[in-house]
Amino acid sequence: MHAADWSDPALCRVGGAGPEAPALSDRIFRELVDRSVVGMAVVQDRRFVYANPRFAAEFGYGREEILRIAPRELVAEQDRPLVADLIDKRLSGAIEQADYTFRGRCKDGSVREFDVHGTHMMLDGRPALISVVLDAREHDDAGQAPAAGRIESAAVAGGEFRGAIFRHLVEQSLVGIAIIQDGRFVYANPRFADICGYTVDEIERLGPRDVVADQDLALVAEQMRKRLSGEVEQSNYTFHARRKDGAVRVLEVHGSRMTLGGRPALVSVTVDVTERVRTEQELRALQVRLQNLAIHDPLTGLYNRLYLDDALERELLRSRRSAQPIGLVMADLDHFKRINDSHGHLAGDRILREIARLLATQARASDICCRFGGEEFLLILPQMSKGKALERAERMRQAVAAMEFRVGSSVLRITASFGVSSFPDDGSTADELLATADNALYAAKAAGRNRVEAAQAPAAQG
Ligand code: GH3
Ligand code: MG
Ligand code: MG
Repeated sequence: MHAADWSDPALCRVGGAGPEAPALSDRIFRELVDRSVVGMAVVQDRRFVYANPRFAAEFGYGREEILRIAPRELVAEQDRPLVADLIDKRLSGAIEQADYTFRGRCKDGSVREFDVHGTHMMLDGRPALISVVLDAREHDDAGQAPAAGRIESAAVAGGEFRGAIFRHLVEQSLVGIAIIQDGRFVYANPRFADICGYTVDEIERLGPRDVVADQDLALVAEQMRKRLSGEVEQSNYTFHARRKDGAVRVLEVHGSRMTLGGRPALVSVTVDVTERVRTEQELRALQVRLQNLAIHDPLTGLYNRLYLDDALERELLRSRRSAQPIGLVMADLDHFKRINDSHGHLAGDRILREIARLLATQARASDICCRFGGEEFLLILPQMSKGKALERAERMRQAVAAMEFRVGSSVLRITASFGVSSFPDDGSTADELLATADNALYAAKAAGRNRVEAAQAPAAQG
């Protein structure tokens, strides 16, 4: 693969301002719409008067077929009220334009989400709706064919659709449309100029190189090169653009190629998805936060009981498959009630946090540290034999006993008792392993506290 390079005059205009962009004929606009990689349709009197091939294909219909379908048939039942309302508002002039997402029904009965950028215009003296439709799924860069149907040539109902109408379709479009040749925007509709923060006159003196943010220059050059060379017919991608005022926006491009003046040119249909991307990022961050909250204990930051149950099952499955042991260490602080009673609950909380931090710092990456209960902790130690788990517990016992906690003018010390069990020696299920560790812990308490006890293998239990 060749690396695309902005020194290529096909990608980047040479020198300063270019000559005035040539006036484009109506034929070019018709071609722009007919061959667009986004769906475009005009609806009047509740039927399609025009649908470009892409529009028909998005819904899985052929070019003649789509004209016989009532537009409402393409909307899934549950979204019909929403779509009908937005159509009425546009027709009555209550709103100029509407950007919305709806669930569309394809010919094969499948339901898919579509983004619509709709506006209206006058056609033969009567209002008509223009809808630009994008398949709302994530687009990859690959030059994919439309998902549903095969693209045929455009269909126009009721005889010839005048060339001027296509110009209007493009000019009025709520998506940005630009034609690039010799590294310049030889045509840009008002929306495209607006997305980039320029006037149409200004943008037609510029080229892609002037509006792409530095971080995505290589990406955009490569996407343009692939289309120009014919390596792909079309490409969908997202890049960061730098507006005239310096603001960075995220733009989604549906790019294709056409011939202009006998030479290849690129067509870019562009949507500003900055807000959508931001919302999606915020939702993802929120999801991660909620997930974290759901599986962590707020006081100590260790995993909670909910997570422990899942994690233990998962580790057991893994260990059964790989015939590896798991060590389980259950710890309970000794006479912790006394700390609360004589120094207050807040002092107790602080001690719990510091002990949790100690456990976490001693843990390997694969260890799972949980707060099992009030002042009880549980460690899952994958791939650790019982002997090693006992050593780990002993080291922890010593570390806890060596800690000093300053509360006011006094220095407190605390000890903990430990029970250790292991898979597969002391049990084969989570319940058995937890019960045997708990029994061992009870034995440690009974034997005087501040000690580590190993679970008795089932055979040895009386
Ligand atoms: P031993 O385990 O040695 O038998 O004695 P103990 O005093 O620790 O007894 P037990 O385990 O029955 O009591 C646990 C005490 O831990 C009871 C409660 O006051 C305290 N505790 C539990 N959760 C928290 C907490 O979140 N914060 C504080 N400060 N104390 C807690
Ligand atoms: Mg205790
Ligand atoms: Mg306890």
